[in-house]
Amino acid sequence: MFEYAPAPESRSVVDIAPSYGLFIDGQFEPGAGSFKTVNPASEEVLTEVALAGPDDVERAVAAARSAFEPWSALPGSERAKYLFRIARIIQERSRELAVLESLDNGKPIRESRDVDLPLVAAHFFYYAGWADKLRYAGFGTDPRPLGVAAQVIPWNFPLLMLAWKVAPALATGNTVVLKPAETTPLSALFFADICRQADLPAGVVNILTGAGDTGRTLVEHPGVDKVAFTGSTEVGRQIARSVAGTRKRLTLELGGKAANIVFDDAPIDQAVEGIVNGIFFNQGHVCCAGSRLLVQESVFDEVLESLKRRMATLRVGDPLDKNTDVGAINSAEQLERIRTLSDAGSQEGAERWSPPCELPSQGFWFAPTVFTGVTQAHRIAREEIFGPVLSVLTFRTPAEAIEKANNTPYGLSAGIWSDKGSRILAVADKLRAGVVWANTFNKFDPTSPFGGYKESGYGREGGRHGLEAYLA
Ligand code: NAD
Repeated sequence: MFEYAPAPESRSVVDIAPSYGLFIDGQFEPGAGSFKTVNPASEEVLTEVALAGPDDVERAVAAARSAFEPWSALPGSERAKYLFRIARIIQERSRELAVLESLDNGKPIRESRDVDLPLVAAHFFYYAGWADKLRYAGFGTDPRPLGVAAQVIPWNFPLLMLAWKVAPALATGNTVVLKPAETTPLSALFFADICRQADLPAGVVNILTGAGDTGRTLVEHPGVDKVAFTGSTEVGRQIARSVAGTRKRLTLELGGKAANIVFDDAPIDQAVEGIVNGIFFNQGHVCCAGSRLLVQESVFDEVLESLKRRMATLRVGDPLDKNTDVGAINSAEQLERIRTLSDAGSQEGAERWSPPCELPSQGFWFAPTVFTGVTQAHRIAREEIFGPVLSVLTFRTPAEAIEKANNTPYGLSAGIWSDKGSRILAVADKLRAGVVWANTFNKFDPTSPFGGYKESGYGREGGRHGLEAYLA
């Protein structure tokens, strides 16, 4: 056995100021109030951030409105130059941004450095490439931008969700007012600085920090033409109600409870890696996490034994340590939610297991957990836990697997593990999920559309499809 020596990434890579303002019309300005953002791995206050009130929303929407005409009148090739420039600056500053994201969010540096940041840059590069080709994208010969886009994003992939929203909006000629989540505002504020570094015209991107009230004021503002929301189904429903009857266009990327289906002919070791990646990547704070594992009964014992063996090797701890596999839970509230649902799993009769693992005494932590003996009626099989908790169910036939996989109000993603291509295609065809991965899981690419069925929302982000949400 080798011992791991600590391999922490240096914190000094990034300078965090004692306070940050709102980014409106190209300037940082004070808000109506302020709030603190903490490092969830240590509970240390990182900095103080401005809180946007109604007047700030008013000013940001007005700035985006004034910037819209000149920005949308630019030839696509000119807008592309800005997007390419932003993409390159993100690459140049990626180490700084990765450390910042891990500090504010709690995710392992290995993930922010090797997954989030490369995908963020790839999104800007990809949509930069579309900016001068919109007439050939299949949306008519003269596709027009919508105007001012209000964008509200969650805390699980702060900068990546920003990229998913901002890159297609700018490429299509819209201007943006974006509100990051209250627990992870920092990378969006650094992005504001990148917009300045790229000489992006003032008002094209505005960043308002704040909580739910700020988000609600923004999406309800009459000067907004398009609302793009990623977050919980509950808030998505409220937004759909408030936008109904207005001329605003809406896309919703909401929650999920994905089935990851392992057939008896699957390569088991590979499947176990996929199961682990599916639910423990980003502490399970992933809308498309493979949180319901469906295993064919004949291989259940084998899969479970390998899974437990593999889970025992996961290293939980300091997000800035390059050896860490599972970082901190993003907030005390989220930790409470994970605990409540996991306790419900035990109370309802499922069997709970976690590998022996020492959790740090400061910060918000939850050990990787697996529940067996789960039935479809259990809360842990129905509700999104959004944490490192896997519910395992079994099935005997492909038809039963499909029935169980689809037995959810959500429909964001699913996974299939099998050696037979024909079985993969036949099952994928019957799954009511926006993304179906085969013999892999949690693979993302800017060229590939992403989005949900049923209560997972509507509209697609990514790929050519992602342009449609921002074009008239
Ligand atoms: P949340 O809905 O509580 O918050 C999301 C964002 O909405 C935050 O910025 C928040 O401040 C804001 N908000 C809260 N109330 C609002 C309101 N009334 N009006 C406008 N904005 C409001 O969700 P969360 O806890 O931050 O994120 C977790 C959820 O996001 C999970 O359900 C997850 O599945 C989902 N998610 C979905 C995707 C996807 O692409 N489908 C991606 C990531 C996360």
